[in-house]
Amino acid sequence: MDVPVLVAGGGPVGLAVAVELAYQGVRCLVVEPREEVSWLRPRAKTTSARSMELLRRWGLAERVRERAPLAVGWSDQAVFVSSLLGREITRIGGCFGLDLVGSELAAEPGQQVPQPLVEEVLREAVGDALLTGWQVTGLREDADGVSVRIASATGEEREVRARYVVGCDGPRSVTRAAIGARYEGRQDARPNFNIVFRAPGLAERMPHGPAVHYWVLNPAQPGIVGRLDLADTWWCIAQGVPAAGADPMRLVRNLAGADIEAEILATDPWNARMLLADRYASGRVFLAGDAAHQNPPYGGHGFNTGIGDAVNLGWKLAAVLHGWAPAALLATYETERRPVAADTIEAAAANMATLAPELADPALMGDEAEFEKVRPAVAEAVRRTKDSEFHSLDLVLGYTYEGSPIVAEGTGERLPHRWLAPGVSLYDRLGRGFSVVGDRRLPGAAALAGQVRELGVPLRVVDLPDVPLTLVRPDQHVAWRGEHPDGALRRALSHRPVSSRP
Ligand SMILES: Cc1cc2nc3c(=O)[nH]c(=O)nc-3n(C[C@H](O)[C@H](O)[C@H](O)COP(=O)(O)OP(=O)(O)OC[C@H]3O[C@@H](n4cnc5c(N)ncnc54)[C@H](O)[C@@H]3O)c2cc1C
Repeated sequence: MDVPVLVAGGGPVGLAVAVELAYQGVRCLVVEPREEVSWLRPRAKTTSARSMELLRRWGLAERVRERAPLAVGWSDQAVFVSSLLGREITRIGGCFGLDLVGSELAAEPGQQVPQPLVEEVLREAVGDALLTGWQVTGLREDADGVSVRIASATGEEREVRARYVVGCDGPRSVTRAAIGARYEGRQDARPNFNIVFRAPGLAERMPHGPAVHYWVLNPAQPGIVGRLDLADTWWCIAQGVPAAGADPMRLVRNLAGADIEAEILATDPWNARMLLADRYASGRVFLAGDAAHQNPPYGGHGFNTGIGDAVNLGWKLAAVLHGWAPAALLATYETERRPVAADTIEAAAANMATLAPELADPALMGDEAEFEKVRPAVAEAVRRTKDSEFHSLDLVLGYTYEGSPIVAEGTGERLPHRWLAPGVSLYDRLGRGFSVVGDRRLPGAAALAGQVRELGVPLRVVDLPDVPLTLVRPDQHVAWRGEHPDGALRRALSHRPVSSRP
């Protein structure tokens, strides 16, 4: 079997690569061992405002929101409590960009939604390109392509020939090993124990109201709890709990602060990791998502960073396969995305420096007078140390590719969103290829159109006379802005500059 792109791994990132390739008109095959998404291992719950904008670009944002059990307007709060049934210490609002509904900052607010549900929506969008029940066992690269060995759960083996391979096969990536890349970094010593449980009537008994996170600051059992749906299903992270000897029912009851009735549905022990692959690619093989980087989950960045990888690499692979760009463009994937992952790992590690165990205080569990005495200091510590975890739009919307060889000096940022009409974002008017935004009567606009004809690249012009002339890449990042776009498109696609002037 021959395919332009083979994607190893159909987690959220591999599926996002496939959706981006399809959006750009490129066929691929996603090889994934899991027949079904893992409903009882709902790791990510935070889909960032930027990921939602990218889902909107694919026409999938509404579908995710319709199916998300917690509507975006349900709550944007994180509440810090002595226990689920105990006292409130303080709260943080406007978490995770959930308050950006109709905002001038973003075309989409964030969304709390379990990772398997996002994966299911992406699986549907990928359709027949997803091959489940198979895994990649090895690959061999040569000058023209890559031969990929795949094996089924029953032991059947096949070879698939691809022009390019994207390794989205997660932490234990076979692809990463095959290209000789290595994770660099460290693992946090603290063990964590995730539990999914059903607790009928718990929500009704809780005095804290709707919130996307309940941080329990009880020193005897600190952790984070949240709702998976508005029925009775909950997730929690019990922090500092080794898997050996863990009693999930006891942990749930300690976090609740009472011997509530609960049913344990699943457990999932994990340690936070701060890991970055020493390189993201060999010639025709690329790494994306957790195969390339892992960060602590605090701030909710992991799979969101991977979605950014998928879009960056996806449009570039399409540009090369469609013949708009030389293969040299693909080297800029690592140049642009590895620093974003490094920044994300650093931010998430900083968020991890102060968690529920560090904020917990025995006096919070005392009588009313003891609680009130210590409450202001704990609330102040929460405000001081947790703000950046819940409000990280500078990272989520603000990362740039400034300094990349394919963007003009002083650009590389996400094109600022703006509403053109009620419910219509500037992003909705951009093309799937490159776009020019600005006054179409300017001479620079005609010059860009000439470059487009020369290179055969699809271009959409969005006539906005009050915006400086801007060349926008398929991933909505700015490649150039100004008056005289000499060679701007050639540069954005890694073509060698043409020296038209002496
Ligand atoms: C407790 C916790 C909470 C988190 N919360 C968030 C959050 O709120 N927001 C966020 O953005 N991130 C969060 N994350 C991180 C997020 O879960 C990961 O970043 C995300 O799953 C990475 O997606 P991926 O597709 O790169 O890798 P994975 O999800 O690991 O998927 C890899 C896929 O590859 C498949 N595979 C493995 N080996 C092979 C092979 N040999 N061949 C083919 N396929 C293979 C696997 O079956 C799997 O489907 C959290 C993580 C944890 C632990």
